[in-house]
Amino acid sequence: MGTILRCQCHVCGYKEELFVGSGLRDCEPETVLRTAPDDPSLAKAVREGARFQIDRDVAVCRKCRRLFAMPYVTYWPAGETPRHTASACPECGWLLTRLGGPVKNTACPACGQILELTPCGHWD
Ligand SMILES: [Zn+2]
Ligand SMILES: [Zn+2]
Repeated sequence: MGTILRCQCHVCGYKEELFVGSGLRDCEPETVLRTAPDDPSLAKAVREGARFQIDRDVAVCRKCRRLFAMPYVTYWPAGETPRHTASACPECGWLLTRLGGPVKNTACPACGQILELTPCGHWD
């Protein structure tokens, strides 16, 4: 089950709702393939039955100055070390920077002041 995070900046009014964590469908190969459709080595590993895991973390796009909850995939190709997929901004394609871990308060991506993050529900 994932968490819905409400982000709010009281200085500039920036607001976002982020769906973090992982959902029920995240164990299905279709979901993982959809998160990185252009990654041939991921597609091959999934076809061969590799183990994978999806985590949605808060990530920032420094170009759009927005936060996103991007699916971050770890997978284990047979006999190899685990790999990760890269997350690109859905708006501009810039590489997102993960904030990682359970984020409490972070800097507002728009103005740099304190951004308040409040869990406000669950999703699955
Ligand atoms: Zn702000
Ligand atoms: Zn962007």
